[in-house]
Parts: sequence; C-alpha cells; structure tokens
Amino acid sequence: MNPVGVGVHQKQHPLKAKLGRIDSDAKRCTKRVCDEPKQRMGGHPPRTGTPCVERFALQAEDGLADRVTDGDDGGGGRIALDEQQFGGRARSVPLAVVQLEFRLHGVLRRGWMDPAVYNQSRMAGNLVIVLGDQLDRGSAAFDGFRRGHDRAWMAEVAEESTQVWSHKARIAVFLAAMRHFRDRLKAERIEVDYRELSPRTEPHEPRSLAEALLASLSARGQAGCPPERLIVVEPGEWRVWQALEAVAREAGIPLEVRADRHFFTTREDFVAHARGRKQLRLEYFYRPLRERFGVLMDDGEPAGGLWNYDTENRGAFPKTGPGRLPAPRRFEPDAVTRATIDLVNARFASHPGDLDGFDWPVTPDDARAALEDFLVHRLGQFGRYQDAIWTGEPWLYHSRLSQAMNMKLLDPRDVVAGAERAWRNGLVPLEAAEGFIRQVLGWREYVRGVYWQFMPEYARRNGLAADRSLPDFYWTAATEMNCLKDALSQTLRYGYAHHIQRLMVTGLFAMLAGVRPEEVHRWYLAVYVDAVEWVELPNTLGMSQFADGGVMASKPYCATGAYIERMSNACKGCRYKPKVASGPDACPFTTLYWDFLARHEKLLRKNPRMTMQLKNLDRKEAEELRGIRRQADAFRDGLS
Ligand SMILES: Cc1cc2nc3c(=O)[nH]c(=O)nc-3n(C[C@H](O)[C@H](O)[C@H](O)COP(=O)(O)OP(=O)(O)OC[C@H]3O[C@@H](n4cnc5c(N)ncnc54)[C@H](O)[C@@H]3O)c2cc1C
Ligand code: SF4
Repeated sequence: MNPVGVGVHQKQHPLKAKLGRIDSDAKRCTKRVCDEPKQRMGGHPPRTGTPCVERFALQAEDGLADRVTDGDDGGGGRIALDEQQFGGRARSVPLAVVQLEFRLHGVLRRGWMDPAVYNQSRMAGNLVIVLGDQLDRGSAAFDGFRRGHDRAWMAEVAEESTQVWSHKARIAVFLAAMRHFRDRLKAERIEVDYRELSPRTEPHEPRSLAEALLASLSARGQAGCPPERLIVVEPGEWRVWQALEAVAREAGIPLEVRADRHFFTTREDFVAHARGRKQLRLEYFYRPLRERFGVLMDDGEPAGGLWNYDTENRGAFPKTGPGRLPAPRRFEPDAVTRATIDLVNARFASHPGDLDGFDWPVTPDDARAALEDFLVHRLGQFGRYQDAIWTGEPWLYHSRLSQAMNMKLLDPRDVVAGAERAWRNGLVPLEAAEGFIRQVLGWREYVRGVYWQFMPEYARRNGLAADRSLPDFYWTAATEMNCLKDALSQTLRYGYAHHIQRLMVTGLFAMLAGVRPEEVHRWYLAVYVDAVEWVELPNTLGMSQFADGGVMASKPYCATGAYIERMSNACKGCRYKPKVASGPDACPFTTLYWDFLARHEKLLRKNPRMTMQLKNLDRKEAEELRGIRRQADAFRDGLS
C-alpha cells in the first residue's frame, strides 16, 4: 500500500505547505489528455507533445472515504490514496502538474499538486519492514524514524500460512495483530505500505514476502523514488532473513538489520556463553541472567537460597481432578479481528482448526490484560501444576502468553517483573514465581540462542536417524490412544497445548515411533498459535526429538505410558493399559519405549544420565524384549 498525500483544489488549503503551491489562478490546460484547469507552474510550462497531466481517476468511493485522515479539512483536504487499490498508476514522468480526481462521500473532487512535491511525498526515505512477529512500536526498527519521510512496510502473504499447513487460529492471530498494528501506526500519522490478502487467490498476487517486497521496491524504482535503505529488526526465522537479504541485493538497496531489543539477551551474548563450552545447559545460562538483571535476587544471592525450585514443579492433580479452574481472560474479536477471521475462513477454509471461539490477544492492551489476569488468578498454582495434564482442560494454570510475547505485543521484562512483584507482594509462593520466570528468562532466551547458534544446519539434524512419516492422526486426532486424542483434539481446536502435552505426549510419541524430525517440526510450526521458528525448532527437534545430538537436552525425554498415567487422568479412559508392554492391551507408548531403548542402546550407553533406564532394559528377559520389539515393529508399520 502506498498512501500518498493529496490536496484538493481550493484557495486556502490547510496543507498548502506540505503540498507545495496550489494555485487558484489556474489556467486551462491545452493538452489533449487533460481538459481541466492546471496549476500554473512558474517557469515550467508543459512542452508540446508531453502529457502535462498525470491523471488519476479514482472510483473507489467507500475505500477512499475510509481513508480520510486527521488532516481532513472537511472537504477531504488530505487523503491517503492506496495506489495498489487503484492499479499502481504512479509513474515518474515529466509532468507539469499532477492532477488527482477522486470521489469522496459520493462527490467528485479534483486536486492538483506540484509534481516535484508529489514525487517527494512518495519518495520514502527509509522503508521500515515490520514482520508479523515484530509488532512492537518501541522496536529498534523505529529508532530515528522520520515521520513524513520514512515509511513502514507490511505485507500479508499466503506463503507464510501455507509453507506449513497452518492452523486457522495461527493465521488469524498474526493477521489480526498485524492489522491492529498497522492501524496504530496510521493513527500516529505514520505512512504504512500495507498489502492485505484477499479472500481468494488473485492471479498476480505475490506468493511470498520476498516477492511482495520486491514488487513494492520495483514499483518505487520505476516511479523514481526507491527508498534509501531498508530497515528491519532481526527476523525470527533464518529463511526470512535470507529472503530479505536476497531482495535487498536484487533491488540494490542497502539492508540494515537492527538488534532485537525485545529479548533480554542478544545473539552475541549467547555466542559468548557458548564459547569454549563442551555442553550447553540451561542452568548455566539462566543463573548469570538472574544476576545480571537482578531478578529474584536478594543481596547478591538467589531469593530463598536456591536458584531453582524445579522439584516443586512436578505435581499432579489429585484423583478428583484440578477442581474449579480460573478461566483465562477472553478477548472478544473487534471489527478488525472479525474481518480477519472472515478472510481466514474464506481463504484458508481447508486448514486445520476453527475460529468460532477465537479469543487471543491481538493488541498490546489485550496482552497486558492477559498478563494481569494470569498473575492474579493462575500464577499461584503454576509452579506446582506446571507438568500436570487433565483431559478436557486445555489451559489449567498456564499463562497463554507465549503468542503475545512471540509477536512482541508483550515485553518479557514486564512479564518477569510482574511475576517477581506478585511474589514480593505475597500473592504467590516463590516456587511459582521462580518456576515461571525460569521459563521466560531462562528457556525462552536459551532456545533463541540455540537456534541462531546452529542455524541453518540445525534444521537438518536427525541424530537418531528417524525415518518414519508423521501419522495422519496428528491432523485428525483419530486415535484410540486417549492421551494423544486429548492433546491433539485440543491442539486442532484451539491451536494450543501446554508444554507437557507438547513434550511428553505428542512429542514423545513421535520420537518413540521414529518419525522424521523435519516432519515433526513442520507439524509443530503449523498447529500452534505461538509457533515461530526460533522457538519452535529447538524445542521440537532438540528438546522433544533429541535429534540435535544433545544440544538442547542432556538426555532424550523418553518415558513409558506410566509417566502419562502419573501426570494425568488420560489412562483411565483409555483402552490400553499404561504399564503393559506387550499383548493386546499394551500401551503403545510403553511398547515403543522399550523398543526405543533397545534400538538406540549403543548411543544411549554413552550417556550417564541414561544409566538407570538402561539398567531396567538389561533386566528384561531376552525373549520378552524380542516380543516387545516385534510388537513395536508391527505397531509402527500399522501407522499411516
Ligand atoms: C515440541 C515443542 C514445541 C514447542 N513450540 C513452541 C513454539 O512454537 N512457541 C513457543 O513459544 N513455545 C513453544 N514451546 C515451548 C512451550 O511449550 C510453550 O512456550 C508453552 O507451552 C506456551 O504456553 P503458555 O504461554 O501457556 O506457557 P506457560 O506454561 O505459561 O509458560 C510461560 C512462558 O514461558 C515460556 N516458555 C516455557 N517453556 C518454554 C520453552 N521450552 N521454550 C521457550 N519458551 C518457553 C513461554 O514464553 C511461555 O509463554 C514448545 C515446546 C515443545 C516441547
Ligand atoms: S494407556 Fe497409554 S495410550 Fe492410553 S492414555 Fe495412557 S499412556 Fe496414553
């Protein structure tokens, strides 16, 4: 989108200074292309044979009426024209005058501009690229932004929703938040080139972000007003970073990539941390951050005397269940979000998920309200029940803040400070605050470091040589395994599952079944509203699939169905028996677990943290193990 400041023809134009000379003493143009009065341009008469007027005939009444900005003088004094909408007619031609003709509130209006001023008004200084996961007005991309000279650029492109078969809620949450961000910029009188997706595929629409940007730059280049520089904050995905660099190279425009201040740490911090270490571990990264940022510290010591209350964070609910749970705050879609939902339903109808109960935060105000709601109502029990699962209860005591943070609607500093304040004010126990802060200040920063440290080859790792396809039921939830059915149904419905469901149900099953990590990664990237590659990939490929050779996790997160039975109520309603490894009632998790240990025995024997599990394997009778492994093979072969 290319909003252009336009002045209507009248004597006392309030935006005269910006628009240049608007001369009421207009002469009638003699050229064929124009039979309207033209602005007299001292010393610059139209030459014979040269079209003296570039003519815009703009018919989109409703669209235009919507675009009257604050500068409106009652007669439509300033209007942001959307060149794309009107066919991208801007051209650089030797004009004597730029004439604009448009309808506003049903009335035909005309305006004239000095072409130099017109071209200048369209000549962006810098073009600030705002990606869908960078919706932060305070980001470094806007440092030194010159209103009226620089402009922002945003685009909705189908590829971001189709390169993995994205959940409808994931698509909607990104697009709705982007549109709200665009509107906020516009309300601040920042000019935004914004490309909206249409409900149907258009024949010539750009397929990717790179194509959209290139098309924009090429239009500007043809109009003689390319931006001086492209500015972007570090993208959250290696692929996007590469694409932006390629576009900048092709367009011959310098690209300035600015550090992402959203995070507590920089990429360089992680490089320095990793330097010289044989093994990377969260704990050694997390503790110095607590000290450096003074989080949960008292007189230079960790609050309460311990760095980590992980052992207090592993509770399961009693047999009677979690009792009455505080429902998370919902955010009713406003008109902008509803329009986005309609678009997603029309354009991405075949994608998983439904949007009937869509209630995710899509603005910073929503996100802050969601944080407040969590701190007051759920943080207190977060620590104790962090690892617990209860069927039919998707949210439990989790924060649901990852999506808002990942889109940069919410500053993690506010999240961490809020949790610490809740503890210091006596609202929540220390183990709850620490357990939660460890996730945000610790894990979230750590996985980002891992991602950038090892990309792009990280994405190709397959340390356990897994070679099976992802079972179809990951897209349908049609399975008899009750724990999986519950986690998958919830995922496909809401685009959300909490950490232990992702790690110890869907992730565990995929690892035990030997599914190719790349396929698992693509599934996780597609189905969760908070999925952005920098955080999703190390969690999936590293933590849940142990495919990165032990960078993220010191050992594979492998367990039998007995673990799921201990942490949830899923096994009660299941046709399988969690502790049985072979025979018709055997829990597939348990069968596959023993097979997994046996299959990877050689590798796992090198890992001291696996000693106990391998001792248990050694205790199995050879015949029993052979039977289990036969059953595991048959089960895996039966998966489609
Ligand atoms: C296989 C797998 C895939 C995952 N994919 C994603 C993803 O695409 N996006 C994403 O944000 N998280 C991902 N996670 C991490 C974690 O599961 C989610 O952050 C969490 O479930 C989001 O729900 P919540 O906001 O209610 O989190 P809470 O349980 O309330 O946790 C609080 C916050 O801590 C942070 N956090 C917690 N665990 C992690 C972690 N392991 N890594 C990074 N941050 C963490 C999140 O920002 C989260 O909002 C994944 C985990 C696994 C095992
Ligand atoms: S018995 Fe096995 S498959 Fe069934 S719910 Fe329990 S762990 Fe899942």
